[in-house]
Amino acid sequence: MLFPYLGMEHQSSVTYGNGFQNGYKGRDLSNTGVGMKFDFIVVHESAHEWWGNNISMKDAADMWIHESFANYAENLFVEYHFTQEEAQDYVIGCRALIGNKEPIIGTYGVNKSGSGDMYYKGGNMLHTMRHMLRDDEAWRKVLRGLNSEFWHKTIGTAEFEAYMSRECGLDFSLVFDQYLRTTKIPEIHYEVSAGKITVWFENVVPGFKAPVDFKINGNDLRHRVSEQHTDIVTGDEKLESFQLDRNYYMSLKKAEKK
Ligand SMILES: [Zn+2]
Repeated sequence: MLFPYLGMEHQSSVTYGNGFQNGYKGRDLSNTGVGMKFDFIVVHESAHEWWGNNISMKDAADMWIHESFANYAENLFVEYHFTQEEAQDYVIGCRALIGNKEPIIGTYGVNKSGSGDMYYKGGNMLHTMRHMLRDDEAWRKVLRGLNSEFWHKTIGTAEFEAYMSRECGLDFSLVFDQYLRTTKIPEIHYEVSAGKITVWFENVVPGFKAPVDFKINGNDLRHRVSEQHTDIVTGDEKLESFQLDRNYYMSLKKAEKK
């Protein structure tokens, strides 16, 4: 249906006001060029057939279940129809729209949804989780499994969280706490000495830990980062480069010398 506003999904009746142009009202939300390759409203609102209509939130505080996945679906659409590289550009480019002023989860029992970060930050949380899992086949199974497990059901964040950790075989409870319930973004701090890099998390919920992918002197390396200082043994006398895999919605900071 054509409408004067941008668009919305109403239980299998998508209203459409994007002017038959690509992007979001002709703009690219990700600022990378990728957003102009598809009609935002068609892809986003269609995603709500799964995330919203098939699986529905029990309480408006959990609206992120609809919107984070609809946003995440935009990135999967790009990956399927274009390239993985462009899908990553898109989701990462959308980070500039994240405010981190209020948490994604709203207030329960009073019909209050959380902040607009449920779109781009939620999508980035899911994208980060996919990379933590680092098994695309398993991740695809989990996404499909969600839609059969919770088929035509209303669920809350707790049921969703339990399902994700159980089916991924990775405890994501503190990842959800961090990204859904706080406005803090994990910082990986590091110090370099001969033959090793010492890393640790700051700005995280207590106990936060995660497998993280890095590139060190051009080589891929995975390390389990926690609040404790742990060493990545490089064996290389000289550190030419140290990068965090860009797919992780976190930051990498060289520790100040005290
Ligand atoms: Zn939506």
